Amino acid sequence: MAKIPHRLYLTEDQMPRQWYNLRADMKEQPDPLIHPGTHEPLPVEALYPIFCEQLAQQELDTTTRYFDIPEPVLDMYKLYRPSPLCRAYNLEKALDTPAKIYYKFEGNNTSGSHKLNSAIAQAYYAKAQGLKGLTTETGAGQWGTALSEACAYFDLDLKVFMVKVSYEQKPYRKAVMQTFGANVTPSPSNTTETGRAILAADPTTGGSLGCAISEAVEVATTTEGYRYVLGSVLNQVLLHQSIIGLESKQAMEMLDEYPDIVIGCAGGGSNLGGLIAPFMQDKLTGKADPRIIAVEPASCPSFTRGKYAYDFCDTGHVTPLARMYTLGNGFMPAANHAGGLRYHGMSPILSKLYHDGYMEAVSAKQTDVFEAAVQFAKLETILPAPESSHAIRCAIDEALKCKQTGEAKTILFGLTGTGYFDMSAYEAFHSGTMTSHVPTDEELAVGFATLPQVD
Ligand SMILES: *Cc1c(COP(=O)(O)O)cnc(C)c1O
Repeated sequence: MAKIPHRLYLTEDQMPRQWYNLRADMKEQPDPLIHPGTHEPLPVEALYPIFCEQLAQQELDTTTRYFDIPEPVLDMYKLYRPSPLCRAYNLEKALDTPAKIYYKFEGNNTSGSHKLNSAIAQAYYAKAQGLKGLTTETGAGQWGTALSEACAYFDLDLKVFMVKVSYEQKPYRKAVMQTFGANVTPSPSNTTETGRAILAADPTTGGSLGCAISEAVEVATTTEGYRYVLGSVLNQVLLHQSIIGLESKQAMEMLDEYPDIVIGCAGGGSNLGGLIAPFMQDKLTGKADPRIIAVEPASCPSFTRGKYAYDFCDTGHVTPLARMYTLGNGFMPAANHAGGLRYHGMSPILSKLYHDGYMEAVSAKQTDVFEAAVQFAKLETILPAPESSHAIRCAIDEALKCKQTGEAKTILFGLTGTGYFDMSAYEAFHSGTMTSHVPTDEELAVGFATLPQVD
């Protein structure tokens, strides 16, 4: 067989035309979203005031195995997809490992991450429903950027509430969003009731994701023609992100390859859920048995040290309750944690699969993650996002294990994005001021104490 190329691009015609819904093949379903007051499962209509109707239906659909990707969504996907499946020859050589290392690179678009895959779908359904605009929150800024691009393309208004510290620390992110026409407000702001209340209590607060979510939801539900959208955690987002895994599997089949190990970083679980989708399908249907590994920061360890429990999806308690691995909605990751993936909970689908033993999870310390990022950057000439670098860390560790045992395993990991807006974190790593915080059990107990009582 011909030598496997460094970068394999499928053609536009080979791009998958359907998303895959993992829940259709799960033997047991994740527990349903419930109302925080009554604890009753939510009917789909209850979600319509917040989410677009088609998206609300996708959220609760456990049986439709494949969803056709709407033509206008495919058209925008073609501006940056199919994304390349890359063979990390240089990394393999440097590690002196018999393992074959592949990665799927999702950073080839202006948002610099996989988030655009779902942003496009969500903006399309909003437009198709005749809505005027959307609201959302953004922390680090990738999601806000992705959604700005999608809203510009589909001619929708967008109001982004950006956590105030990020707004001040990452002015260029804001400028990118504004370039695409988004309205960006630092949160907490005096434009909402929630924001004004929080500012009244603490005028100097730097804000939080939880607060920004509450402001975005308030504006969506009180403004005619607006809905709220979210870039991770939700079932609908994992559905849209399945394009990553479907393309990867197809490209690997063309190379006569199949991964023994699939690795992804885990914040809310959207890239991981998307990457593993078709491989998990093989596992669930008994066709193959790859190892699947989630990698999370040691400073925000939802899978490895969290509880499988019903919890709010936000800190402001405006969302329904989801059963997931969680550190508690009041959990605050350490201030010196720069590597993204700060969310307290985890996708309910992935939580259920993990709970039932279909996948593994490991945690990585921040300094070890950046060490892997720098090694990878030099060898593969891609500057990885700190989030993505968690997966790199694990892929390197697994490849080094292969060196010990002499096994030529095939490893596939998700390289979710680029790190151009994270240079202060890289700088901290280079200057030796970066630290790795691993919370004590007592620190975690503070977060667990904020879990709602559900029985
Ligand atoms: C948002 C983000 C993540 C984490 O989100 P998931 O929903 O867990 O995938 C990972 N990598 C990058 C580059 C991101 O922007």
